Formats: sequence, structure tokens, C-alpha cells
Amino acid sequence: MKGNILVISGPSGSGKSSLMHEMMKRVENTYFSISTTTREKRAGETDGEDYFFISKDEFKKGIEEGNFLEWARVHDNYYGTSLKQILKELNAGKIVIFDIDVQGHKIAKEKFGNIITSVFLTTPNQNVLRDRLVKRGTDSLESIQKRLNNAISEITRVKEYDFLLINDYFEKTLESLISIAYASRHKVSSINTEEFIGSWAQE
Ligand code: 5GP
Repeated sequence: MKGNILVISGPSGSGKSSLMHEMMKRVENTYFSISTTTREKRAGETDGEDYFFISKDEFKKGIEEGNFLEWARVHDNYYGTSLKQILKELNAGKIVIFDIDVQGHKIAKEKFGNIITSVFLTTPNQNVLRDRLVKRGTDSLESIQKRLNNAISEITRVKEYDFLLINDYFEKTLESLISIAYASRHKVSSINTEEFIGSWAQE
């Protein structure tokens, strides 16, 4: 495979989606892996762009048929990454962006190890996260509490990641994310070194 994978994890409300979309406008040859989920569509989201929204029964069928590279249950819903399209994009040399949680990152690392670069993104502290979720107005108070509890448990696994980004100032965080995306292309572990050495040494 000629491409590589950039995993971005972090609580919803940390600014992850906006940062990823801005980064993808500025870094060429990227592909966003659209996950499949059983959760309700939020206002402003589009099926086939933000997620593929399906029922729990359809999701379970997908698991049985082996369609997912990884899947996880996150706040009572299923989320999963489909394998087929990703392999195609990797073979086309793209940076494939995964917005997945800590459970998904662990599995993706087991399956794709050396071609993965991972970033954990979060807010400066949990109060900022709570404020952002309340202001966003897309979740009930119960769902906000679930997301905060989940964020508190996810942060304990930050050491499994290559990079930690604290999203305090959007533009600054965006610059860092762009640098990481560019650098991810140059990791020796994601390059076929035999092929490179062979072609470099040819007269
Ligand atoms: P949200 O409901 O806010 O869009 O996402 C909730 C959580 O699910 C986030 O932490 C997000 O990264 C995670 N997530 C989204 N898609 C996937 C996926 O395909 N696999 C896994 N493991 N987690 C996902």
C-alpha cells in the first residue's frame, strides 16, 4: 500500500470535525473515511458525508458479513469503519483520515500498525468541553453527561497516541494538525524501504 492512515480521536465537542475539514482543504491527497453509525442524525449532518446512518439490525448484519475493519459501541450506539473503500484509497497513495475512538484506534493499530500516525485532540479541560457541548445545542443534558464521562475515561489512554493536541486556539491547533499530516507521509515505517533502496541505487 502506498498511502498512510492518520487517526484523530478525542471527545465530540473538542473541535475535531472542523479541524479535520479545514486540514483536508489544505493538505492534498487526503480521504476522509466515512464511518457507519446507528446514532440519530444531528441537524446539519448529511447521510453519506458525515456518516452512513443505518439501523442497529443493518449494523449487526454488517458485522456478521465482515464489512468492518473495526467497530465499537460508543454511548449506546454502534460506530464502524468499512474496509473496502479504505484499501482502495490507500492503494491510490492517499492519507486516509479516521475519526475514531480509543477502542477503534487500538484495533486499527493492530491491523495496520506501521502505517498509522495518531493524534489525540481535546479541550484545555473538561469545563471547556461541557460549555462547548451545551453551546452546540445538539445533545440532551443526559447525552452531554454521557459524552463527558466518556471523555474522562478516554483521556486516560492518551499515552497510546503519537501526538496530543490541546485545542485552545483554532488556528494554532490547525497549523499543528497540518504539520502532523505532512510529517505522517514521511515516516520511514510507512514506506516500502526495500523498494525505495532498490530504485535509488539503480544507475
Ligand atoms: P459522534 O457521535 O460525536 O459523531 O461520535 C462519537 C464518538 O464515536 C467519537 O469519539 C468518534 O471519534 C467515534 N467514532 C466515530 N466513528 C467511529 C468509527 O467508525 N469507529 C470507532 N471506533 N469510533 C468512531
